[in-house]
Amino acid sequence: MTIRTIEVREKVMARNDELAAEVRKRLSAHHVGALNLVSAPGSGKTLLLERTLERLGDELSLAVIAGDVQTQNDADRLARHTDRLVQAVVTHGGCHLDARQVLVALEALDLQATDLVFIENVGNLVCPASWDLGETAKVVVFSVTEGEDKPLKYPKMFQQARYAVLNKIDLLPHVPFDLDLAVHHAHAVNADLRFFLTSALTGEGIEEWCDFVRACARSALPV
Ligand code: MG
Ligand code: ZN
Repeated sequence: MTIRTIEVREKVMARNDELAAEVRKRLSAHHVGALNLVSAPGSGKTLLLERTLERLGDELSLAVIAGDVQTQNDADRLARHTDRLVQAVVTHGGCHLDARQVLVALEALDLQATDLVFIENVGNLVCPASWDLGETAKVVVFSVTEGEDKPLKYPKMFQQARYAVLNKIDLLPHVPFDLDLAVHHAHAVNADLRFFLTSALTGEGIEEWCDFVRACARSALPV
C-alpha cells in the first residue's frame, strides 16, 4: 500500500508540472511575470503586499491571487488597496497552492491588461517548495522574529527562491536576531539569493522592494 501511495503522489505531481507549464505559457504569451510569495505563517506577506498595492496600485496593473487554508481575510485586506479583482483561493486544509488553482485564477484575469501577478501562497515553508505554480520566481519572506537558522532548516525553500525578503526589521532593536548570520545561512544554501530588508509596518526598505516590483512588471523577467 505504501508503494501505491507514492505512485499516486508522483502522478499528481507530474500533472501539476504540466499545469504549471500551461500557466507559464499563458503568462509569457502576454509578457507577464508572476511572483510566488512563500513563507511561514505570520512573516508579513499580506502586509508587504498591502504596502506594495498602496504604492504601486495606481502606477501598475497588479493582479493578486491570495491562498489561505481557511478564510478569505487576506484577500479582503488586499482588496481594500486595489480596484482590481483580488482572487481568494481557500484550500480547505490544503497546505499549499497548486498550479491548477492558479490556472483557474488566470481565467478571470485580463492578462493583456496586467503588468504583474502576485501569488500569496499558503503560509508553509515545506511543500510550497515542491509545487511549481508556473511562477517566474519564488520570493521567500521571513522575519526577524523567526530564527536565523530558518534557511538551514528549510533549505529547499531557500534554494527554490530567487529572492528573499527579510521583514519586520523595525523589531531588530528588540529581538536577539543576528541579521548578518541569517543572510550568511541563506547564502550558504543559495549563494544567488538576492535580499530585500523591509519593515512592511514602518515602510523601511519598501521603496527598494517597489523598485524591484517595477522592474519585474516592465520586463516580465526578474532582475
Ligand atoms: Mg497572509
Ligand atoms: Zn502542502
